[in-house]
Amino acid sequence: MSVAAPWIQAQAAQLLAQRGHAWLLQGPSGLGQYGLGLALVRAWLCEHPSAQGACGACVSCHAIDVRTHADLCVLMPETVMLELGWPLDEKTQSDIDEKKRKPSKEIRVEAMREAIEFAQRTSARGRGKAVLVYPAERMNHVTANALLKTLEEPPGDVRFVLASEAAHQLLPTIRSRCLTHTLSWPDEAQAQDWLQGQGVPPDEARSLLRAAGGRPEDALHYASSGRDPKTWRGLPRAMQKGELSLVADWSPAQLIDALHKLCHDLMAQAVGAAPRYFEASDLPRAPSLPQLQAWQRVLVQEGRTAEHPFNTGLMIEALVSRAQSTLN
Ligand SMILES: [Zn+2]
Repeated sequence: MSVAAPWIQAQAAQLLAQRGHAWLLQGPSGLGQYGLGLALVRAWLCEHPSAQGACGACVSCHAIDVRTHADLCVLMPETVMLELGWPLDEKTQSDIDEKKRKPSKEIRVEAMREAIEFAQRTSARGRGKAVLVYPAERMNHVTANALLKTLEEPPGDVRFVLASEAAHQLLPTIRSRCLTHTLSWPDEAQAQDWLQGQGVPPDEARSLLRAAGGRPEDALHYASSGRDPKTWRGLPRAMQKGELSLVADWSPAQLIDALHKLCHDLMAQAVGAAPRYFEASDLPRAPSLPQLQAWQRVLVQEGRTAEHPFNTGLMIEALVSRAQSTLN
């Protein structure tokens, strides 16, 4: 397993110094909730933990790295399990392989039942057990209520980490059962170093970080999405000219996200504030606030159908054309 980013390691050490059987890690996406959650459960189950965290060398650490620790239960939507390389149970995997159903985007009730059974079993390695829930906001009411009972009366040696990118969506009763930690932002130099360590060239790291609003994991996501980071800086002018070619191979969701950011920065500019996602020199002159607000409403509306567009090409064209008319 790759070593966690320095700002994640520092936060893990801070949390390990405190007692608590349930942590809620919260904050916007891209700051490393999952990485921090994993660092915590790894340290809890480690045979030779230090104040800094897990040793990374013992049988327990190794079992987590190869995703087969008997005392760790990860509770995630199936789509996220697949994305992060956690194994699905046999039945689920074969149902998905045989196309009987698609991987679920929510945390399923069946998975929650298994997690609750897991919590009641005896620890296999004698160092207690851990449940990692991510993203915790993908529990529906039924699964959240099931978890709540276990959080209220935890069976002895089990500890929980709920990692969330939208903690306001969690039941207040769940939140109140957990110690809360809000993820801290890395400074720009740290984030750039880390991105470069992940293989992103220095000149691209800066612009990707900007595109991601300073969130390093989102920046890395962008880097691995196949889009050329150089296009980011040219995006505002290209939209002003209605140039389709720059974004023709983007998904509607990617384009809507980028246009929201452009709209945000132009609104900032219109009220005399500094832009966040683009360099000020790359922005066209801001239209009036009412025009920008109208555009933002369109983007919100389009965002609702972006995952299942009627026709991807047409949707991209319409988005570019709307951007062009707003910017002129
Ligand atoms: Zn270890």
